[in-house]
Formats: sequence, C-alpha cells, structure tokens
Amino acid sequence: MRDYALTRPARRGLAAIAVLAVLALAGFAAMTAIAPPAERATSAPATEFSAARAFTQVRTIATTTHPAGSPANDRVRDHLVETLRGLGLSPEVQDTVTVQGGQLSSSAGGTGLARVRNVVTLIPGTASTGRIFLVAHYDSAQVGPGGNDDAAGTATILETARALTSGDGLRNDVVLVLTDAEEACLCGAKAFVDQHPLAQEGGVVLNFEARGSSGPAIMFETSEGNSRLVEAYGQVPSPVGTSFAVEIYRLLPNDTDFTPFLDAGRFLGLNSAYIDGAAVYHAPTDTPEAMDRDSLQHHGDNALALTRELGGRDLTALESGGDATYFPAAGLLVRYPGALVWPLAVLALVAVAALAWLVRRQGRSTARRMIAAAGLTLIPILSAPALAQGLWALLVLIRPEYGGMPIDPYRPLWYRLAVIALAAATVLAWYALLRRRIGPAALAVAGFGWLAVLGVVLAAVTPGGAYVATLPALAGALAGLVAIHVPDGVAVAVIAAGAAVAMVILLPTVWMLFPALGMPMAGVGAFLTVLLGLALLPVADLIHPAAGGARGMEALRARRLGAVPTLAAVLAVLACTVTGLAVDRFDAKHPSLTHLMYALDADNNTARWLSEEAEPQEWTAQYVSGSPEPVTASLPAFGDEKLRSGPAPAFADLPAPNLTLVADTRSGDTRTLRVRLTPQRAARFVTLHVSHETKVFSATVGGQPVETTGEAGGGWNFGIVFHAPPQEGVEVELTVHGTGPVRFRAMDASDNVTEVPGFKPRPEGVGVLGSHSSEMVAVAKTYSL
Ligand SMILES: [Zn+2]
Repeated sequence: MRDYALTRPARRGLAAIAVLAVLALAGFAAMTAIAPPAERATSAPATEFSAARAFTQVRTIATTTHPAGSPANDRVRDHLVETLRGLGLSPEVQDTVTVQGGQLSSSAGGTGLARVRNVVTLIPGTASTGRIFLVAHYDSAQVGPGGNDDAAGTATILETARALTSGDGLRNDVVLVLTDAEEACLCGAKAFVDQHPLAQEGGVVLNFEARGSSGPAIMFETSEGNSRLVEAYGQVPSPVGTSFAVEIYRLLPNDTDFTPFLDAGRFLGLNSAYIDGAAVYHAPTDTPEAMDRDSLQHHGDNALALTRELGGRDLTALESGGDATYFPAAGLLVRYPGALVWPLAVLALVAVAALAWLVRRQGRSTARRMIAAAGLTLIPILSAPALAQGLWALLVLIRPEYGGMPIDPYRPLWYRLAVIALAAATVLAWYALLRRRIGPAALAVAGFGWLAVLGVVLAAVTPGGAYVATLPALAGALAGLVAIHVPDGVAVAVIAAGAAVAMVILLPTVWMLFPALGMPMAGVGAFLTVLLGLALLPVADLIHPAAGGARGMEALRARRLGAVPTLAAVLAVLACTVTGLAVDRFDAKHPSLTHLMYALDADNNTARWLSEEAEPQEWTAQYVSGSPEPVTASLPAFGDEKLRSGPAPAFADLPAPNLTLVADTRSGDTRTLRVRLTPQRAARFVTLHVSHETKVFSATVGGQPVETTGEAGGGWNFGIVFHAPPQEGVEVELTVHGTGPVRFRAMDASDNVTEVPGFKPRPEGVGVLGSHSSEMVAVAKTYSL
C-alpha cells in the first residue's frame, strides 16, 4: 500500500523523540524571550535601572488610594516634585481645567471634565532635535492604591530620570509628564497636550502603564507609520512587542493617556504595559506587594534604553516609513515592512498550492482527499474555541464568583494550560480519527492551506497580525516541498525546522493573548492553539503509528496506539482543570469581587442600594434584588448603565450639592445663565444635567467650552461630570432657548459606602470590584432656576 505521509522515517520512535526535542527547545527559547528580566538590586550601578530602587517609590506613591482631587493625591504630587528637585531638576505643576480625552470615558452620562495638576519636568538636551515625552499617571482608581496602575509607570519614570541625570546628557530634550486624573477622564494627558507650551511642537511619546501585576512589559500600541520607531524599539535589551497586539488592543475597552497624544496628530509614540495578574486591576488588592518586580525591571530597562536610543537620534527623521510587522523571537525583535504583508500572504498560498500539486503528482494523496481534508479541518477550528468557552462556563458554574471577575481569576495559569490541552486534545482526536481514512499528507496540506487562507484574510483586515498565520503556513509548506524530495532522515529534520518556526511565532502569541483577553474569552486562545496544532500536523503524525500498510490484529493495535496522544491530552485537560480549582481559591488576599453603592435622592429623602453585579453574590444579595434597570431618571450620570437596587435607610447627614444662580441675562428668545455647582462635602466628582425640555445652544464649564449635543436619557439631555471639583465649586454658563425656568439635576459622589448606616462589613474573602462606581455614595437633587 502507498505511503500517504510527507515523511516516513525508518526509525519512527527515534525520529519522534528527536523532533519533539527540537520543538521543546524552540518553545523554550520563544517563552524565555518574552519573560521579564530579573529585578536588579539597589546596589546596581547609578546609570542603570534598578527595580529595587524604583520599588521604594512605588511604596511611597501607593501607600493609600489617591484619586484625582483627594488629599492623598496632593501628598503624592508633593513627593514627586520633591523627588525630581532632589535630582537637580526643576519640576512645575500644571494646574488647569480640561475636558476629557479619548472617546471612552468613565463618565457614560455626560462630558467628563477635571481640574488636573500635572507634574511636568524638562531635562534639556545638549543639541536637541525634538522632544521625548515620558508619560505615566500618578493618580489611582478610587478604591485601590494603584500599586501597579500606575505607580509602576510613575516610578519607572522617576528611576529613569535618576539614571539619566547620573550619566552624560542626551542630545534631545526629555520631558517627564506625570499626569493627573487619568482614571477619571484621561484629563491630565489631555490638558498637557492641549494647553502646555512644551507640548505644542509635538514629539515622541513613551507611555508606561500596568493593567495587572505581572508579566512582560509589552509594547502594544504605536502611532501610525511606526517602522522607524519600531526599529529603535528593537534596540532595547528585551523587546516584547508585536504588531498583532496593536490589533488585539483595538478590540479591548481600554484607553490610556496615550490616546489624547495620538488624537492631537503631532506626536509619534509607543505605549507599553504589563497586563498579567489582572484580577487586581483597579481593586483594593492593587498594592505594591502584589507587584512582580521583574515586570517593573522590564518596564524600566526598556524605558531607559529607549530614551537613550531616541535621545541620541535625529528626531526629525523618525516620521514616515509606513507600518512595520514585528514580533519577538528568541530575544530579538523580528521586523519587516508592512509592504511585505501581502506578498508574503500570497507567497504562502502559492507554496501550499505547489505542495498540494506535488503531493498529488507523487501519489501521496488525491485531489478528492485533499478537498475532503480541507472541509474536515473546519471541525477543530470551530469546535476547540466552543469547547474552551464551554470549559470556562463550567468553571463559572462551579465557582459563581468567577462571573464577577472583570478580566481573569487570580491564578489563571492552570486554566490556561487546560485550554491549551483542550485545543490539543481536539486536534489530536480529529487527527487520529481521520489520518487513516484521509491520509496524513492530505491533512497536513489542508492545515497549511487554512493557515495561508487566514493569513490572506488577516492581511486584508488586520495587516499587523497576518504574520501569525502567514509565516507558519509558508514555513510549513516550504518544509513540505523540500521534505518530499529528500531522503527520509533529512526530511524529518526539514519538517522539524518548519514546525519550529510555527512554535516560535505562535506559542508566545497564545501565551500573551490569554492575559490580554482573560479567561472569559479563552476561546480565542484555543483558536490560536488550533492554528499551532495545524502547523504541527506533520510532526504530530510521527507520534502516531505509521498510517496504512497494517492488516488485521496489527491494524487494531496501531489504532489503539493512535489513541494514546489524544488520551494524554484529555487527561491533561482534567488534571489542569482540577489543579486550577484547587489552587485558585478565594481568601482574604484573593477575595471575590463585589460591587455596592448608595444613592440618596434629596428631593424626597429616599435612598437605595445599587449594584452592577451581573449575578449578585451572596453578600451583595442582602442589599439588592430584582433585575437590572436603568437609573438615569434620578442619576443621569449613569447613562444607559443598568443596576440592581434595594431599599436603604435615608442618611440625614449627607448634604446635597448646592446649585445657585450667579448671573442671568435674557435677550429675545434666549437666556444665558451662569450657575455655580458647589459640593457640600468631600466629593470626588460632581455632575450636572439639564432637563430635556430645555434646548441648550452652548455651554462652558470652568471657562472650557463643552459639547451640548449629548443625551443622558431618562428625561435628561446635556450633562457634565466634573472630577476633582475645587471647594469653591464649578461655574457653568449655558445659553438656552426660551426664557422660562430651567430644570437641573445635580449630583455629587464620594467613595465611602462603608460609612453609611446599615452597611454590614464584608466577611473575609469578599472584596471590592475595581469599578468606577464601587463604594460610591451619591447624593442628587433637582433644581429649577
Ligand atoms: Zn492606568
């Protein structure tokens, strides 16, 4: 009987072991390349970055929660100014009011504004060709101390500045921009970009963030036309950036200080963050102790090296050049021009077609078999992601608290391995069932074919991500073409080399994708694992008994042996899942996440508890019940958000924000009102909405013009959310149609739900969700002026 495989070595067992060893080595090298470097001690040379030194800054910055406008944030700012002065620099505080940056904002039901105080420091260059801006935000979310987000970025810049000032001066200007009110509305960065003199000529922005507590510092976002910048980034000691991440990031609901810079159109730049360990994101558990300091070292190594690299270049020559495709591979940053994306995608298709033609001509398969194989390959491609989503649904069923985790469980490692094993089991089971009927060569060609087709689709839709499919398809097909022309011993080596390319490209991609998307989207990780599996089919064939040729008892034995890899993968799924459930338990340090807030309506002195939990947990269910409903009618700032509610005691000591008429002029059919909104207690933000009966022509807030086209719903239209309001209040000027009274809804918010009578402290193991309305106490009142 004919041999239907691409290669059939005489000593199959030995070949399998050798090939698996090569793949393991390739995988190990690929994974080592994306691991953060080890933390350097305080004794490291003064011109180098030491995470241990930076961490002492993290401790000071993240002692307590410090949202924009809080006294704790004032203390952080004072510390930053003092530290920078200690380096012989001259920091200044930019104190201003601005409207929000970016499209996404925490203020769903109105235009976000804030009073911000940025700490801005210029390190003048010796013969500057432009400016490099090192950006991180020093404010924290309102319920967490921000040990990682973004004390990590802030400390990275402080330690980088220290290292820079202990060495020779750079050619170019470096501007340190420590922003305020990022968590509120990206307002600090927006204020710097719009209003600060140092920002007016543009330059190169390097933003440093953390959305989690560990993992490599990934360079995940760039300005357009990035090829020269990416080339400079490739010079850092451990570059972990991929053009695929840029595409993934666009799918995520995150936004950073980088956005206002990009929106301005006169900045180039790179955005980096470490993102694993995301269970602590914005939560009280985002403490300095939660930080993996190797991640801080990675941030710092790259920040310092990149600043030095760009600091010596002619910054006027950085622009243009188009977008590059780039990815980390064994310690290097592989990159090629975006112009090669399409030629490579087409080349991969041609190579697969050539392989199919040769395989048919040599009688290793037939056209019918290969067409059947192409159709059947859809089975693992579609079923593995579905099974992975099913596995996560099962885990949420077993542990309902997982439903409340915004991105990932605390210790997702074993669950990720379970998903990878599940995808492997799917591919192996499918392969074991079909390889005798369809033939190994046909299945291998079909696998490469789908990779090549996907490469073409990605080239059209997300060009930066096309390489994840194109290059494994191309390497696999070329290896196949060579393998069928050389002796079997050599063929095995060639096949192994092709598979190693897929391993180096796809394994780190799978591994970085899990923290990026979290377990609730585990199906995407499974999908990419299947792609890797398809690229490895010629290798997978070697761990099965040779197909074809066997008869009778021998064939039965071969079929039984053929089930062994599948069984091993299934056992791995079970073992990893059970281990994950045992390892990742909720406790005091790793609490389940609950959301509760309190809202008082001062019009009728009634109050209620509110929660945004999708499925209320046991603790939350004491306060709220029923189904989620919009609350816009009484709390317009919540926009179209839906919350569960329950009755709460009216808390008499909560004064509503005051709204007074400062000036009032009428001319013809229009009226111009100047009103002052003043919180009567320590409020993180105040909001003001105008009834939909009133048509607003124009408005300014604190002197800043704002859009008046928005609608909050619930009978309210135009509205503003002002963060960090000054004690003396916020002045709003409106020009409206008509001369009759205008109805306003004013609200303020603090973050002390635990002080409300009737609040029962959370038991151990029950914690606070890092949402923008967690622990909020809101007081609202209607005014007619
Ligand atoms: Zn942040």
